[in-house]
Amino acid sequence: MANLRFGAVEEAFKKRPLEVKTPTERPEHFYGKYVFNRARMYKYLPVDVYQKLIDVIDNGTRLDRSIADAVAQGMKKWAEEHGATHYTHWFQPLTEGTAEKHDAFVEHDGKGGMIEEFSGKLLVQQEPDASSFPNGGIRNTFEARGYSAWDPTSPVFIIEDTLCIPTIFISYTGEALDYKAPLLKSLHAVNVTATKVCQYFYQDVKQVHTNLGWEQEYFLVDEDLYFARPDLMLTGRTLMGHDSAKNQQMDDHYFGTIPERVQAFMKDLEIQALELGIPCKTRHNEVAPGQFELAPIFEECNLAVDHNMLLMSLMKKVAHKHRFRVLLHEKPFAGVNGSGKHNNWSLSTDNGILLHAAGKTFNDNLRFVVFIVETLMAVYKHNGLLKASVMSATNDHRLGANEAPPAIISSFLGRQISDLLEHIEKSDKENIFNLSGKTGLRMDIPEIPELLIDNTDRNRTSPFAFTGNRFEFRAVGSEANCASAMIVLNTAMAEALQNFSERVDTLVAKGEDQTSAIIDVLREDIKTCKPIHFDGNGYSESWKEEAKRRGLDCESNCPKCFDRYLDEDAIKMFESMNVMKRNELEARNEVKWETYTKKIQIEARVMGDLAMNHIIPVATHYQSQLAKNVQNMVNIFGDVEGKQLSERNIKIIREIAERTNIIEAGVEELVNARKQANKIESQREKAIAYHDTIAPKMEEIRYQIDKLELVVSDELWTLPKYRELLFIR
Ligand code: ADP
Ligand code: MG
Repeated sequence: MANLRFGAVEEAFKKRPLEVKTPTERPEHFYGKYVFNRARMYKYLPVDVYQKLIDVIDNGTRLDRSIADAVAQGMKKWAEEHGATHYTHWFQPLTEGTAEKHDAFVEHDGKGGMIEEFSGKLLVQQEPDASSFPNGGIRNTFEARGYSAWDPTSPVFIIEDTLCIPTIFISYTGEALDYKAPLLKSLHAVNVTATKVCQYFYQDVKQVHTNLGWEQEYFLVDEDLYFARPDLMLTGRTLMGHDSAKNQQMDDHYFGTIPERVQAFMKDLEIQALELGIPCKTRHNEVAPGQFELAPIFEECNLAVDHNMLLMSLMKKVAHKHRFRVLLHEKPFAGVNGSGKHNNWSLSTDNGILLHAAGKTFNDNLRFVVFIVETLMAVYKHNGLLKASVMSATNDHRLGANEAPPAIISSFLGRQISDLLEHIEKSDKENIFNLSGKTGLRMDIPEIPELLIDNTDRNRTSPFAFTGNRFEFRAVGSEANCASAMIVLNTAMAEALQNFSERVDTLVAKGEDQTSAIIDVLREDIKTCKPIHFDGNGYSESWKEEAKRRGLDCESNCPKCFDRYLDEDAIKMFESMNVMKRNELEARNEVKWETYTKKIQIEARVMGDLAMNHIIPVATHYQSQLAKNVQNMVNIFGDVEGKQLSERNIKIIREIAERTNIIEAGVEELVNARKQANKIESQREKAIAYHDTIAPKMEEIRYQIDKLELVVSDELWTLPKYRELLFIR
């Protein structure tokens, strides 16, 4: 029997790093080479068109359709100079990936020939027949029209021969069918309510932007080994595989020397990412063997989300070129760390004030405390929803496992901020006032700003940690679209800030001094949001108990977590902030449940196939070899002595028989459980059935398979083992 595994291992060993030429230019010269950025807009567009477009981008004014033709002309000219022949509306459907349909610039010229054309109409709006994208029932197939509409705030870019135009994707009747449309609305909502709050402190603030700096974790696996693992190919994770004797115990991979082939991949990836305007900055080995991380400098949230989507597809392409496969799955390997995407999030004003950073004056620090506390209010009020925003069948393996943020949302603040909040809450208001009045500068805890800059007080177990001038949302899954989490966080923040300013205004209308009113409301909120603040160990058992007592959302059943989107509080929040309507939320939940079911369904099928076609045949083959050996021994030594000498083999023969029986029965139960679940009409109930009956059954089968891997001869085992997948590169 030719063993694919050994062929793959041999091929993998032979591979050498590809040579990646360092560009002769410095990054500043090739950064954004394939992006239609402001400098290029200025160069390729008439001045008045340029100014109108910038006004749309900077101030959110409505796009004047009359400039669309001129913009399209300019874009096309620039794109053609880079050899582009096609264009596409590039959007982010609810499948987690990106979608594109390429059209050539060519049109009939009316004289039997062709001309290359790109009109404003085609730039601004298109109607992809998109009936097969998930829509949760919003768009019936007979009304299959979905519109993609240009998002001018994210610049167009070129990939190979195609001009890519970032767009939103909505139904004929205006409901969002993607991530970008609600994201843009949530960003607008924060902008409005945060600007209002800012104006208590700084009259000249006109806009507030949301920043996002994501850190992307991923695994690399040699391509030949990947192809010898049907589970990796079809589900993105290993459904079986015993721990490697050595994995991450020694902590020798984290921040270690980057392996050469990987280094070449990273270099190639970074050059191409920089050319696409993604400001890559950091790269390093992560905790698990074979795991790495890439982080750019933070950017405006909408752009950062686009860049993350773009980077994920670029990673796949570049990995392939280096004969690797990139695994973005949150938990490709059991027993070692999984991958996440830390979302560093903060707000800043159009005149450059970082609202989550402390300042030097009393005014700055009061503003700082307001934004910290209102963030906590947002996270507290919607903690279950925030968790739902990052939950998925794949991230489910990571959340709550003792390595990643627990499946309970809480926020870490660190010593100094905790003390500061306690101080504001406990001391009487006159005191805070007098003190600040006296010094004129500081809010009674003079060392705060200085200490914060050097914030080393880190808690890796917190899902939502304050890290000096931003919050870091660490529960986001590595393959997720960051927008899902950002939509909820931004909308919740917008609501909290609106609520805050309404209460302040009411007090002011009653004649209270504004600063005094702000402190009053703050003190109230500091008390209210206390349950969300937790600086301790998020992995501990005692925290689970404590969190329950505090009334935080402790649901860990993924399909049930999605219910939070349909709580009245959540619907009210999304509707009042103009981000999503009830029917959109309902439709999206249908998609979430359906996606959950399908993922587990595919895994269960692959597991059944592998168990029956790889594992049981190999194990029984080995068992026959052993049986033959026992028979030989009996022939030589006679029945009693022969069996005595074959004790170990007989034990293994029995073990194989027992385990394969359990596996076979398990696979049958798995099939039956699926048949039962598939009969269920409701998407929600079906997903719950998959969660409750099918997922655990797979774990049971896996356990038996992993035990077999330990006893069956290595020579016969067909699936590349963990040590090979994780260490050969
Ligand atoms: P870590 O130590 O957690 O790995 P890094 O210092 O590498 O964090 O930064 C992680 C990300 O946070 C980067 O994308 C960085 O640009 C981003 N970041 C830094 N400051 C802010 C901020 N104020 N708001 C949002 N993101 C930020
Ligand atoms: Mg981080």
